[in-house]
Amino acid sequence: MAEQHWDRVVDVVVVGSGSGAIAAAITAAKGGAEVEVIEKAEQFGGTSAWSGGMPWMPMNSKMASVGVEDSRADALTYIRGLDCDRAPDQELVETFVDNAATALDYLEANSALNLVVAKSYSDYFADRPGGKPRGRSLEPVPLDANAVLGDFADKVRDTPHIPRLTQDEMAAEGARRNLPISHGDVPTDIMALLAEREANNIRTIGPAFMSGLIRGALDAGVALTNNTAADQLVVENGEVVGVIALNEGREVRIGARRGVVLGCGGFEWNSEKVRTYLGVPDTIALSPPTNVGDGLQMGLEVGADVANMTNAVAFPSVYDEKSELEGAPFASLTAPRNDPGVIIVNRQGERFVNEGVNYMDVAKVHRAYDPKTASYPNQGPAWMVFDQDVRDRNVVMDMFPGQPTPEWALEAPTIGELAVKMGVDPAVLEQQVERWNSHVDAGEDPDFNRGTIWWEGFQIEGPSPAKNMRHLKNGPFYAVKLYNGILGTVGGLRINSNAQVRASRGGLVNGLYAVGNTAAGIFGQTYPGGGGTLGPNLTFGYLAGKHLSAQPAREVGAAAVAQG
Ligand SMILES: Cc1cc2nc3c(=O)[nH]c(=O)nc-3n(C[C@H](O)[C@H](O)[C@H](O)COP(=O)(O)OP(=O)(O)OC[C@H]3O[C@@H](n4cnc5c(N)ncnc54)[C@H](O)[C@@H]3O)c2cc1C
Repeated sequence: MAEQHWDRVVDVVVVGSGSGAIAAAITAAKGGAEVEVIEKAEQFGGTSAWSGGMPWMPMNSKMASVGVEDSRADALTYIRGLDCDRAPDQELVETFVDNAATALDYLEANSALNLVVAKSYSDYFADRPGGKPRGRSLEPVPLDANAVLGDFADKVRDTPHIPRLTQDEMAAEGARRNLPISHGDVPTDIMALLAEREANNIRTIGPAFMSGLIRGALDAGVALTNNTAADQLVVENGEVVGVIALNEGREVRIGARRGVVLGCGGFEWNSEKVRTYLGVPDTIALSPPTNVGDGLQMGLEVGADVANMTNAVAFPSVYDEKSELEGAPFASLTAPRNDPGVIIVNRQGERFVNEGVNYMDVAKVHRAYDPKTASYPNQGPAWMVFDQDVRDRNVVMDMFPGQPTPEWALEAPTIGELAVKMGVDPAVLEQQVERWNSHVDAGEDPDFNRGTIWWEGFQIEGPSPAKNMRHLKNGPFYAVKLYNGILGTVGGLRINSNAQVRASRGGLVNGLYAVGNTAAGIFGQTYPGGGGTLGPNLTFGYLAGKHLSAQPAREVGAAAVAQG
């Protein structure tokens, strides 16, 4: 190899510090590799630490604790029944099913990750062949961040999206507020619990998930470097041998004897790439704004193949145009769009979807094309329309029951006046609300089958019109814009079963691995259950780390200066 100038040389450079990246880092380091993680942001953890912290892991060892059996055949039947033959690489689905449980056991044994079954979560299509009523979606037990991470606790992201509750506690709190949710023990005083967790830095969901994993990386001897953004891959003789990164404007060259892992998230904050690949103009990202597709870009530059580019994990979201975080627009997940008394209408004021379907499926309907009008009538933002009863039992973004209505929500004494404020034809909206109320009376929604799709009742042992439909009658009435939120893009670099990146001309990009949302999602256009991203992230991160630690150390040259 030609003489390279390196600032330092390690066995494995991992780019990014989300779930896929840290799983790869732990496994490679435990396998004997010298590993450095470089993270663009100040804090570690990425979207994974902002998330619900739930991985979806078929055949995992915890399913027995809730008396649910799983099998390879069930898991494959379930996934294949949903992907409608659109998963780009079927063998990766098998790799996932065959390795998820092992990856989980390994990562729990080698970190402070501690997961239990999220009892309030069934598979999202549990009524389909191979679906399970619970057990595949897991969540972390509350974690004492100060005890687990010590001084490093502040270096791991906390989430601005979700309070310090577990998924099951949130479901139980929903039940307390008379929503159609019934699992779990209702905490007696949720505010006291939150205050105690805040005071003692007890983390739940995503922050607990990533705090636990990052403890494992530290214990395995992984070097974690923040404020350092990979900018370019170094290729020599057709192999990726290192990265050039930027640290506060200074170039840092890091050689990688065994390989480079791109685990630097998706491209949801890159509006040009979103337009190019997703092909929709109306998205708003909910991840940290550092996810601008650097991994995709670097992969493309070295000849990587890509797959699943039109897909994203979407979540209908609300947004106050004045709300910012880390210098970027900050949208919120807290929207009661599937409350039984909410209808969603498009910009013409017409219902267009069963409001209770899972978050991914709402986005698919946003994209529907109407050949008659040669337009996309449901393009976002849409509107949630609801009455005072819904307002009284829900938090919408930061609007709590009993508080004055903020500027970003519209309020009016009648549906007709609300329609005028929304800019839609009052006659259309009045007719839609009347029609909805008549469906509630009849106990049937012939337009969009409300109360019949599993996810509408996935936390209440199945849906029914009685549980999922309520009148929209008691003014004043409200309308709030519902945006096409993106939790993370799904398209990315095509990988094989070791998470090695495939080349677009065939074969592999030697020395390069991709995990998490930098890699193409394996499920095609579907999302099998809560955790459909973090589950594969852990699994393919683990597989990348295993493969890397078995690679011989290549001669890539030494660092030009002594490493301190
Ligand atoms: C509110 C919310 C809740 C969610 N809940 C769930 C859930 O419960 N279950 C589930 O499966 N999914 C969930 N998701 C989706 C899921 O969290 C993300 O899709 C997933 O965490 C992405 O993981 P990742 O490893 O690909 O990257 P990330 O966790 O996003 O990490 C990528 C990291 O790479 C860094 N980076 C970017 N570019 C560079 C560069 N050039 N150099 C160095 N570092 C770089 C970023 O700063 C970031 O820290 C949720 C998402 C959100 C927003």
